[in-house]
Amino acid sequence: MQDLIRQLLAELGEDPSREGLLDTPKRVEKALKFLTSGYDADIDRVLNDALFTVDYSEMVIVKDIDFYSLCEHHLLPFFGKCHIAYIPADRVIGLSKIPRLVDVFSRRLQIQERLTNQIADTIRDKITPLGVAVVMEATHLCMSMRGVEKQNSFAVTSAMQGVFRNNARTRMEFLELIKLRGAVPGLRDTASAGLACVAED
Ligand SMILES: [Zn+2]
Repeated sequence: MQDLIRQLLAELGEDPSREGLLDTPKRVEKALKFLTSGYDADIDRVLNDALFTVDYSEMVIVKDIDFYSLCEHHLLPFFGKCHIAYIPADRVIGLSKIPRLVDVFSRRLQIQERLTNQIADTIRDKITPLGVAVVMEATHLCMSMRGVEKQNSFAVTSAMQGVFRNNARTRMEFLELIKLRGAVPGLRDTASAGLACVAED
């Protein structure tokens, strides 16, 4: 990988042998391996013994989970907040494992919709809740840094399953709870309905 990064630097018009860039290939390799470490993660190991049987059927919400991912179209970051809710049928996931679950799928080359769905699908598959909801709000550097229209650099995506899909009151309860805080000022006004990074350019 380091040879490729040296080649890339040269293609960009840089001198890979100048002092400031000497260790860059090594650093970039290390950074990229970390940022894509989700491919190697075994979800069952991540959730390792953190699935519990409970007699509890109220909504469980974990909100404002920070996440950082890489857009698969431009290899540039998109990042923001993830909010997750589910209503247990008979099992719950240890709360500390939920941000780890978000990391596993974020640390891959992604598009925001797929990332959102993968998190929801995994929770559905692992604990078969009555419903699961995932909302992700993110800034896409591939849009904002390249000067593509500002209103498209924010995207909000959601995955609603089970009672969150079928029951408007449950869905609204969740959406109200995540609106209380954590949102970037103005985000909800400017958020695009679809995904920001769909452009082929
Ligand atoms: Zn992109």
